Amino acid sequence: MLGIVFYHLPQFKDIMQAEIYDKVRIESEGASYEGTLMPSQTDSIVLKLKNGYNIGIRKNKARITLLEKKEEKMAQPVSALPKKKKVLPNISILSTGGTIASKIDYRTGAVTSQFSAEDILRAIPELEEMANYNCRMIYSILSENMKPSYWVELARAVYEEIKNGADGVIITHGTDTMMYTAAALSFMLETPVPVVLVGSQRSADRPSSDNAMNAICAAAVATSDIAEVCVVMHGGTSDDFCYIHRGTKVRKMHTSRRDAFQSINARPIGKVEYPSREIKKLSSHVKRGEKRLALHDKLEPKCALIKYATGASGESLLFHSGSGYKGIVVEGTGLGHVSTEWIPLIRNATDAGIPVVMTSQCINGRVCDRVYDTGRDILKAGAIEGEDMLSEVALVKLMWVLGQTQENDKVKEMMHTNIAGELTRSTCISS
Ligand code: GLU
Repeated sequence: MLGIVFYHLPQFKDIMQAEIYDKVRIESEGASYEGTLMPSQTDSIVLKLKNGYNIGIRKNKARITLLEKKEEKMAQPVSALPKKKKVLPNISILSTGGTIASKIDYRTGAVTSQFSAEDILRAIPELEEMANYNCRMIYSILSENMKPSYWVELARAVYEEIKNGADGVIITHGTDTMMYTAAALSFMLETPVPVVLVGSQRSADRPSSDNAMNAICAAAVATSDIAEVCVVMHGGTSDDFCYIHRGTKVRKMHTSRRDAFQSINARPIGKVEYPSREIKKLSSHVKRGEKRLALHDKLEPKCALIKYATGASGESLLFHSGSGYKGIVVEGTGLGHVSTEWIPLIRNATDAGIPVVMTSQCINGRVCDRVYDTGRDILKAGAIEGEDMLSEVALVKLMWVLGQTQENDKVKEMMHTNIAGELTRSTCISS
C-alpha cells in the first residue's frame, strides 16, 4: 500500500523535505544521479533510475535537489472504496495475483503479489468514473503457480459474478501464463458479457509501470459490447493504446517488453486508444447479449505438451503414453513433423486410445501433415492436426475436449471444430 514516507535530511533541512516518489537529483561523492525517490528501510536513500534500476546512496554523503513533485494520485492515502453510482455499469474484478497485483518488498527486493482487487482500484482512481465495482480476491499467486483446477474455480467464479448481474468481469492475472488461463476460460464459458484478463509487465512502483493504463483499458473493454474472453495489454512501446486479443489467439512473445502480447494467426479484436479509451474494432466479435451464460467446466488435466527437438529419442513420448496421460500434444517442426523414429511411438499412443495432436513450433502458420511423406505417415499413425492453434491452446483444448468426451472419433471431431475462435478457416489441402 502506498504510504507517505519523508526522508529527513537534517543537513539540508532548509532546502526541502523530499517525499517518496518525488523526482530528485542526488549528488554524492562527485557523481550525480536523477530518478525517483523510493521507500527505504535502511540508512540509505534508494533512488530508482530512469532505466528502472534501484541504487542505494548513503544519506550522510548525499546532496538532494527536488526536480518534480510526485503525481498527486500516488500521494493520496488509501481511502474507502467509492460509493456505488447507479448509472454506471457493474463490473466484477477478480484478482489472482501477478505483477499487476504486486509490490516490491523492500526488505528482500523481491516482487510479491500482495495487492487485492480493492487495492488496485484504490491505486488507480480513474477506474472509479468508469463503473461500479465488486472485488474478489480468488488467488494471490504468481501465474507460474496456476493449474487446471484453478482455471475451473476461476471459471466458476466468473460464472457466478455474471449470474449475479455483473455487466462485465475483469480478471487480474500474472502475464506468464495468462494465455493458458484465457484459453481455458474461453472453452469453459459461454458469456453474454465481456470477460477481460489483464496484467502488467512492470510492477506499480516502477515509473514505466503499465499497470494503470492496462487496467483502465481493460475497464473500457469490460464495459463495451465485446462479449468474449479476451486479453487486454499494452499494444506498443508508448502509452498510447492497448490491444484487445481473443483469449484463444494470444501469446506472450517477449519476456519483459510492455507490448509483449500479440495475437497469433489472427488480427486482434480491436484496440483501446489511451487516454481517450475509445475502442476501435479490428475484427468481428461476439456481441453483448448474443450468447446465453453457460459453464462447461469439466477438464481432463492429465494431458501433456511435448516438444520435438532435432535428434530427440522419443523417450518423453513413450513415458507419457505409458504413465496414465489421457492426451498428448506434440509440438513438431515446420508443418507439424517429427523424426521418423517417433512415428511408431505416435502409433503406440493412439492404439492405446490416447489422442495425439500435432502443433508447430513455428508459432505462426498452420499445421498441414498432408504435404510431406513424414506428415502423411504421422496422420496414418492416428495423429490429429492442430490446424492453426497455438500449442498451449491445443493443450488446453485437448484437456477440455477430454472433459466432454472420451470417444476417439468425437475427440477428433471436436478438435477440428471451432469452439471459441481458436481455429480459423483451413487452407491445408487434403489430397
Ligand atoms: N511470473 C509472474 C506471473 O506471471 C510475474 C510476471 C507478470 O505478472 O508479469 O505472475
